Amino acid sequence: MDLGAIVSETYAELADERGSGTPARYIPALALVDPNKFGIALATADGEVFCAGDADEAFSIQSISKVYALALALEREGPALWDAVGREPSGNAFNSIVQLEREKGIPRNPFINSGAIVTTDRFIGDSTPEEAVQDLLTRLRRMGRDESITFDEEVARSESETGSRNRSLAYFLEDFGRLRNPVEDVLSVYFRQCALRLSCRQLAEASLFLAFDGTDPVTGQQMCSASRARRINALMLMCGHYDNSGQFAFEVGFCGKSGVGGGILASVPGRAAIAVWSPGLGRSGTSVLGAKALSRIGLRTGWSVFSGK
Ligand code: GLU
Repeated sequence: MDLGAIVSETYAELADERGSGTPARYIPALALVDPNKFGIALATADGEVFCAGDADEAFSIQSISKVYALALALEREGPALWDAVGREPSGNAFNSIVQLEREKGIPRNPFINSGAIVTTDRFIGDSTPEEAVQDLLTRLRRMGRDESITFDEEVARSESETGSRNRSLAYFLEDFGRLRNPVEDVLSVYFRQCALRLSCRQLAEASLFLAFDGTDPVTGQQMCSASRARRINALMLMCGHYDNSGQFAFEVGFCGKSGVGGGILASVPGRAAIAVWSPGLGRSGTSVLGAKALSRIGLRTGWSVFSGK
């Protein structure tokens, strides 16, 4: 199969639709990004990365970072993490607060904002916020094989300044006694984690471990155990797109995690890690063109987590 041609053809077929959807504006710094950006990168086990469009331009990965935060929180906390956060689809918006009261401060899953605030708290553990951010950066740089990976301080500041909803979620969690670190420390790490900047190429390379049982098949570096990688994939499939997760699984058939910066990271176990970026979002915060591109790649390759082939 000519994966390079599949990526180029998918890009060419959809390039006229650049600008589809509506970029996130509730984080003012994100509203400044050119809505016509569109990139695709597909990384495979033999070290090849097939790219098209703006695949080498770094963008704000936003909630895609929750996947790495979860891997680190699990590493630190082990299965006890699941006492503090659930594993069920929420059926609600990413920043919803409604279930938190009913479920006594236990978020439904680690990918909605409340759940991610808890996983961030657990991966901070006993370290300082600065050490935790550094830890995350070190891991991503190693997995992405690029020392230049960093976060965008302007986006982090912009989100913090307008972050009343995330602050509400975090203080609500604190009131239930669910956070171990001071709320503002947790939020300062959460905002910086969301403001990580990676290109599609870096994201795809850094995420091969998800598609290959926890170990990067190119470098041999292990990020997590095989069973943990499978479980992260399961959560991506069920919860990676908030109240649009069912639709994404139905249309695309890959494990995926969206970010309101317009990126989507997809893991196709045993095949590839794919990252796409187009800032325009649909109703639930998933990139419209990004999801379309992944769906076309699924059709062209015949890949699907639901296929035996
Ligand atoms: N930083 C964003 C927020 O907390 C992340 C949401 C997303 O990317 O889905 O609102």
